[in-house]
Amino acid sequence: MPQEINILVFEDDLTAAGLLESALKSAGYRVWMATTAREALDLLRANTFPVAIAELRSSKMNGIQFTQEVHKISQGTNVLVITLYSFINSAIEAMEAGAYGYITKPLNSSEIRIVVERAAERFFLLSTSDEKDYFVDLAVRDGLTGLFNRRYFNELINIEINRIKRSPATLSLLMLDIDNFKNYNDTQGHPAGDELLKKAAKVFKNSVRAVDMVCRYGGEEFIVMLPQTAKAVAQIIAERLRVQTGLYLPTTVSIGIATLPEDAQSAEDLIQKADDALYQAKKSGKNKWCAA
Ligand code: GH3
Ligand code: MG
Ligand code: MG
Repeated sequence: MPQEINILVFEDDLTAAGLLESALKSAGYRVWMATTAREALDLLRANTFPVAIAELRSSKMNGIQFTQEVHKISQGTNVLVITLYSFINSAIEAMEAGAYGYITKPLNSSEIRIVVERAAERFFLLSTSDEKDYFVDLAVRDGLTGLFNRRYFNELINIEINRIKRSPATLSLLMLDIDNFKNYNDTQGHPAGDELLKKAAKVFKNSVRAVDMVCRYGGEEFIVMLPQTAKAVAQIIAERLRVQTGLYLPTTVSIGIATLPEDAQSAEDLIQKADDALYQAKKSGKNKWCAA
């Protein structure tokens, strides 16, 4: 990262503020501190900030409102919210409202640097483009279904795994693949196939918690990432997704389940294990889930 990238930090807890400031300064950023929302927004009006970091409970303003206020002033600023891992739901809600990501408490300087570096890098990648708004969406969302796309999933899972390394926790992945989709396309037509994928995205999203991340991984393949979810619970969710698919869609789905840390320790391995389990589900008759 080049020097002198402005980072705005809105944090009223002095200990956390100090830690953020020193982690960011030692990574070469120019850090601007604010202790009230008003101060933070004033700074934003006066300078260009690739990244703004805000504590969720800092003020009367919640993460969603803060994110919206930031984007009214500076659309390209990537907002990162700070949250306790146990309050991760509110961070995900802020992301649905346009925040780029989150940093969990207790704070860890390498997580801070990884997340901020990605957010800053994204700002510069996007600001060189003419069709900024278009690319902002394309960068993280799939054009057809509106779900998080594969590239963003790869970022999310690595952030999630870095977090888990610091505290004992679990992460389950469900890899879903629509059954006999080629046949559906061939008999109903490609536009009907597209409609089915859009409906599938909605059914999947509506069948999981707000904190679970649903991504379109490729063609008719989806991944549901379940933070803090043991395998036994992941199996219940997989069964729910299978049943809901049968109820609301003119098709069935096969699902592979893998859980960290028992099945894998890295993102690649976890994805591979979920993929292997999906293959088992397909091979043994489809319309079912298998666990690694
Ligand atoms: P299986 O039950 O083993 O998963 O068989 P399948 O037919 O679902 O799987 P296969 O991999 O043979 O075919 C996937 C099809 O999905 C082929 C491809 O044309 C179609 N597809 C991929 N992306 C899209 C898309 O965005 N829209 C539509 N309509 N079809 C797509
Ligand atoms: Mg497939
Ligand atoms: Mg398929």
